Amino acid sequence: MNYCIGVDLGGTNIAAGLVDLNTKSIVSKKSIKTNAPRPCLEISADIAELCREVCRLASVSISEVAWVGVGVPAIIKDGTVVIAVNLEWYDEPLDKILTELTGRPTFVTNDANAAAYAEAKWGCGAGESSVIAITLGTGVGGGIVLNGKIWEGFNGSAAELGHMVIDANGRWCGCGQRGCLEAYCSATALISEAKRMAKLYRDSYMRTLVAENGGKMNGIIPFTAAKAGDLAARQVVDDYIGYLAIGIANIINVFQPAVVCIGGGISGQGEELMAPLREKLKYISFGTKDKRTKVVVAKFKNDAGIIGAALLGLMED
Ligand SMILES: [Zn+2]
Repeated sequence: MNYCIGVDLGGTNIAAGLVDLNTKSIVSKKSIKTNAPRPCLEISADIAELCREVCRLASVSISEVAWVGVGVPAIIKDGTVVIAVNLEWYDEPLDKILTELTGRPTFVTNDANAAAYAEAKWGCGAGESSVIAITLGTGVGGGIVLNGKIWEGFNGSAAELGHMVIDANGRWCGCGQRGCLEAYCSATALISEAKRMAKLYRDSYMRTLVAENGGKMNGIIPFTAAKAGDLAARQVVDDYIGYLAIGIANIINVFQPAVVCIGGGISGQGEELMAPLREKLKYISFGTKDKRTKVVVAKFKNDAGIIGAALLGLMED
């Protein structure tokens, strides 16, 4: 069987894709509203229907689907949703429920782990057995793949890379602790620092770019202004990359993965971000002379969740 289905269950939308394992592509895709919170059985019934729908769209029978994989914004251990705050689910054996409803073997993982797994199998870590993915978005998320398997931790709570402390007396984080990587390296943190510096330096080019953007700061403006030679923006970007380097050096020094891949909105800056980051990492992370962790931009953007979930059936026991 060449087909599998990946489902990205989010707080707002549920997206499913039928994936062809031979062509390594999504052949049909559909998304519906989650309308959370709702009981697990209700949402599961919608997921099962969505799986049948993506099959219909591609004229494939669901019996030709080898398995279904689902990524959930939750703490997951061995297929069970331990806690999903947005969905208000506790201790739901989602893999068993969906195996029953779809008639196909179903695997469940955390959504950030699914995205990491997509990179490990078909993305920038393809062919490598250890890949760690970090996402620089509204928050900072992560997923850890070791020896070809997602590392969930003994209780399902692993890979909270955004809450590694990089400054014990540092900025407050949304989690209630101080100095978390997320408080420095999320897009939210970058935007708030850029705003602060643009306010402080009245001749900063960032102010012109903000005015041109309808008065709104975003995560691209500091990079654009820094590239144009603006000193305030350069400071914001250098600080940002400096903190990110500390976080990634910690990851490398603990795990020595073959690849660290960086996704999320800020990764769209490409080499403006990556070149200075790699340069800093040379000095603050361990490695051997000829074997150093590759630090690269993630391959998959919006489809990472679907593809990673779809590939869960490939995971070795
Ligand atoms: Zn935190």
